[in-house]
Amino acid sequence: MDLAYTEAEEEFRGRLREWLAAVLPGLTAKPPPDDWPARRAYDTTWQRMLYDAGYAGLHWPVDAGGQGATPTQHLIFLEETERAGAPYVGANFVGLLHAGPTIAAEGTAGQRARWLPPVLRGEEIWCQGFSEPDAGSDLAALRTRAVRDGDDYVVTGQKIWTSHAEVADWCELLVRTDPDAPKHRGISWLAMPMDAPGITVRPLRTLAGSTEFAEVFLDEVRVPASCRVGAENDGWRVTMVTLSFERGTAFVGEVVACRRTLEALADEARRTGRWDDPVLRRRLGRLNAQFRALWRLTQANVSESQRTGGVPGVGGSVFKLRYSGLRQELCEAAAEVLGAADAFDLDRDEVLDRLSSLSYTIAAGTSQIQRDIVAERILGLPKGR
Ligand SMILES: Cc1cc2nc3c(=O)[nH]c(=O)nc-3n(C[C@H](O)[C@H](O)[C@H](O)COP(=O)(O)OP(=O)(O)OC[C@H]3O[C@@H](n4cnc5c(N)ncnc54)[C@H](O)[C@@H]3O)c2cc1C
Repeated sequence: MDLAYTEAEEEFRGRLREWLAAVLPGLTAKPPPDDWPARRAYDTTWQRMLYDAGYAGLHWPVDAGGQGATPTQHLIFLEETERAGAPYVGANFVGLLHAGPTIAAEGTAGQRARWLPPVLRGEEIWCQGFSEPDAGSDLAALRTRAVRDGDDYVVTGQKIWTSHAEVADWCELLVRTDPDAPKHRGISWLAMPMDAPGITVRPLRTLAGSTEFAEVFLDEVRVPASCRVGAENDGWRVTMVTLSFERGTAFVGEVVACRRTLEALADEARRTGRWDDPVLRRRLGRLNAQFRALWRLTQANVSESQRTGGVPGVGGSVFKLRYSGLRQELCEAAAEVLGAADAFDLDRDEVLDRLSSLSYTIAAGTSQIQRDIVAERILGLPKGR
């Protein structure tokens, strides 16, 4: 791919900058972290503004309701929105970054028409019901059962660590539809309406104080069979598509944010005299080089996935592994630059960000699992246990 921007791409950047400068001052203040209904309203309002301006689903295929923009335009969009301090996807994360793209890639025309436009317009929020108390790394061990009854599945089981469940309208849900088949072959991928009778959402509070997660209990929930994406018992293959979006492209916007945080840290170190410390300078310099390399990998991945039908593939594990580790290192460096005394001046969001960076090497599949995938499926090394 050509890493230089063309004249047309710079024009696109200019128009986007103008639009951001015009609309951002009119945005309401960001709501408090634990007020999920207010956060939902804030995130969906921003999504609607993007939609009205023609920036929603920029890189989604046109037949999925997107703009069909080039990968480079998508990356410019991420750079410029971050530079301008625009809101990030927030509660729209699952719908925009992995459930929606999965439906775009695997859904029928009717499913794409039903579910994708409301995501792009900021009208419907999705959550992810994959993990269970005994099925995390070994996701295929999931036990939530779905039994076919006429035109419906009747679903019973429990999910855990379901981010945004409290405010979600739909859940991308993995269920076991054939208990007798080998574990990877008896799974189906369903879209479950979160207002169906039989669903109980119990929020969980983390050690960091965040209320993002919930346990979701399912007691004979009826989900129409028409809400199944992919064939019955072919859900593991569809899950790989979802995970490749989640690991390969969903965090791309956050890389841009990390690079800006790093610049801000260097400025802060210069302002406070910490820059004179050669060890700290070397640490920030190394991080800068590593994030630059990650950005180049990101550009190559986004470009490659566009060429191969939009699905990032197993290479997403390399990105996820590298990004999550670097983000933790960045948060540690931030703590060093800001120092213990200044930490008292940090707002709660920033403190939460440092603590929550520890979860990055767990969310979307742990680093150990990503290393297994890279070893076995990319490097072709023999299978472990
Ligand atoms: C911030 C965050 C958001 C999340 N959001 C969601 C969500 O919205 N929906 C959802 O479904 N899930 C979500 N999760 C759950 C996440 O997918 C799981 O936590 C993750 O897959 C790990 O599963 P587990 O917690 O059960 O850990 P376990 O699988 O019990 O693993 C425990 C430890 O053992 C290691 N381990 C396990 N098996 C192996 C192996 N074969 N080889 C080497 N090491 C191994 C793991 O790496 C880990 O260190 C979220 C998690 C986090 C942290």
